[in-house]
Amino acid sequence: MAVNLAFARATRGVPQAMIAAVAVVALAYLLPAEGYYLNILMQAVTYAIAVSGLVVVLGYCGQISIAQAAFFGLGAYGVAIGTVDFGLGFFPAWLCGVAAAGLLGLILGVGSLRLGGHYLAMVTISFQQILTLFLTNWIEFTHGPDGIRDIHRPALGPISFAGGHAFLALCMVVLVIVTLAVWRLKTGRLGRAMQAVRDNELAAGTCGINVFATKVIAFGLSAVLGGIGGGLFAGGFQYISPDQFTFGESIVLLTMALLGGVQSPFGSLIGTLVLVILPEWLRFLKQVYLAVYGAAVILIMVFLPDGLWGLMLDRVRLRAKPITGAVPDLPLLGQTGHESTEIVLKIDGLAKHFGGLKALDGISLAVRRGSVHALIGPNGSGKSTFINVITGLYKPTAGKVTFAGHDITHLAPHLRNRAGLARTFQNIRVFRGMTVLENVMVGAERPGNDIAEDAAKVVERALAALDFVGLRGDAHRDVGALSYGHQRYVEIARALAASPQMLLLDEPAAGLNLTEKHELGELLRRLKGHGLTILIIDHDMKLVEQVADHITVLNFGRRIADGLPQNVLQEPDVIAAYLGEPANVAA
Ligand code: ADP
Ligand code: MG
Repeated sequence: MAVNLAFARATRGVPQAMIAAVAVVALAYLLPAEGYYLNILMQAVTYAIAVSGLVVVLGYCGQISIAQAAFFGLGAYGVAIGTVDFGLGFFPAWLCGVAAAGLLGLILGVGSLRLGGHYLAMVTISFQQILTLFLTNWIEFTHGPDGIRDIHRPALGPISFAGGHAFLALCMVVLVIVTLAVWRLKTGRLGRAMQAVRDNELAAGTCGINVFATKVIAFGLSAVLGGIGGGLFAGGFQYISPDQFTFGESIVLLTMALLGGVQSPFGSLIGTLVLVILPEWLRFLKQVYLAVYGAAVILIMVFLPDGLWGLMLDRVRLRAKPITGAVPDLPLLGQTGHESTEIVLKIDGLAKHFGGLKALDGISLAVRRGSVHALIGPNGSGKSTFINVITGLYKPTAGKVTFAGHDITHLAPHLRNRAGLARTFQNIRVFRGMTVLENVMVGAERPGNDIAEDAAKVVERALAALDFVGLRGDAHRDVGALSYGHQRYVEIARALAASPQMLLLDEPAAGLNLTEKHELGELLRRLKGHGLTILIIDHDMKLVEQVADHITVLNFGRRIADGLPQNVLQEPDVIAAYLGEPANVAA
C-alpha cells in the first residue's frame, strides 16, 4: 500500500516533543525569571495551558464554556489547600485539584445533554459564579477573600523546582506537552468525533458517534487542562485569592482563545501571549491603555474571525497536496450481489405524529437484502420522516423497526449506525469545518467497522470510498469548497466508508444538474451491482424505474401502493397522487 501517509505520520509528535522540551528548558533559563518578568511569564504560560482546554471544548467540540477560570481556580486551590493546610506534596495536591476540576467538568458536560447554545453558556456562567461564592465564603476551607499564601513549589527527588527558573521550566515543559497533545487530539479519532459533533450533531450521531459521550469527554478534558494550568499558577505565584478566578477571568481566557484562533492550540498560545503581553506594552499610554487594548482586541476579532492562527493557516493550507497511491478497494466491491429472499429491514405499523399531524400513519414494509427499494410519494407525504424514524432521529409514536433480526425501535442513532444502517440527508449535512477526507474518515472509523481501530487503514478506507465516488482528487480540500453535487457524493462516500449493510438515501438527486444526475444513476447501478441493500427516496421517476427492484408509495403518511415497479407505477391511486387530483389535495 504505497499511500503517502506523510501527513498522518506528522501527527506522531513524540520525538519532536522531546526536542521541544529540551529547547524549552534551555529557553526558560535564558528568560529573566525574577519579579515583574517572572510574573508575566508565569501568567502567560499557566494561562495558555488553561486556554488550550477551551480549544478542546469550544474549538473542537463547539460547546461554549464560560467557566474556564473556575476550573483553573480548582486546580490552584487544590495545590494551595493541599500543600498549605494538608501538608501534601505539590504533585499529590495538584492531582487532587485536577481531579476535582475534571469531575466537575464531566458533571457540567452531562448538563449539556439537553442544553445547547445560550442555555449551555448560562449554565457554565452559573457554575462559575457558584464557585466564586464558594471560594469567597467557605472561609474555614478556602481561607475566604484573604486568599492563601506561602504555597509550596515541588521537588522531584533531588530536583527542586523552588527557584524561579526551575519552576518556569516545569511550567513550560507542561505547556509544550499539553499543546502537542491537544494538537494531536485534533487529528485523531476522538478529535474528529468532537469536530463532527461541532459541525453537525445529527449527522455525527448517524455516523456512529456517541454525541453525548463525546461532549462530556470534551468538557472533562477541558476542565482537566484548566486544573493543570491553575495548579501551576498557584505554585508560580505562591499566593492566590478568589478574585483571580472570577467570571471576568473566564471571559479573559475565552478572549485569548478566540483571539489566537480557537481551532488550534497554537492559536490559543498566540492569543494568550498577546493578551498577557499587550497590556504591559501599552502601559506607557497611562490612562488610555485599557481603551487601546480593548480596541485592539475587538479589531483583531472582527477582522480575523479565525484568529491570528487562522490567518497563518490560510497560507499553509494552500500547500496541501493530493494524496496519491493505490489503496485496497471498498470491501463491497469484492461482491457481486443479487436480491435474496432474506428480509433485512422490517417495518410494522410505524406511526409518527407531530401534534395533530400524522406524518406517518401505520406504515408497514419489508426490504430484502441486496435489493434497491424505492420510497416515493408527493412532497410532505412522510418520506423523510420515515427515514428519520428508522435512523433514530425521531422517536416513533407507534410501531416497530426490525433490522437484521434485531428490534432497533428504541436504539440511539449512533447504535443504529454501528448496527449497519448508514444514511444521507435530503438537506446536505457534511462536517463543514473539516476536509473531504476527514469527513469520510468519520464514517470509516465507526466503532465496529473492520478497520476502525487502525488509523492508517481508516485513511485508506476513506480514500477508497472517495475513489468510488470519484472525489479522491479533492480529498484534502475543505468540504465547503465543493459543489453541491459533490458534497452529496461526500455524504455517500462517508456512508459507504462505514461498510453498511444498508444505505438509506433521502433524495440524493435533489439539487443536482443533469450531468450529475446521470452520474448518480451510474453510481447507484454500481452499488446495486455489488449487492448493497438500498432504500432510496427520489422524485425522479426515470431514475427510480432504472434502479428500483421494489417501490413503496406514500401519500399523507399512508402506504398507498407497494410492489414491483411496473405494477406500482400503473396503479390509478399512484397516478392520482402524483398528478395531485382534487380529492388528495383537499384532504
Ligand atoms: P417528505 O419527505 O415526504 O416530503 P416529510 O417527511 O418531510 O415529507 O414531512 C411529512 C410531514 O411531516 C409534513 O407535513 C411536514 O411538515 C411534517 N413534519 C416533518 N418533520 C416535522 C417536524 N419535525 N415537526 C413538525 N412537523 C414535521
Ligand atoms: Mg423529504
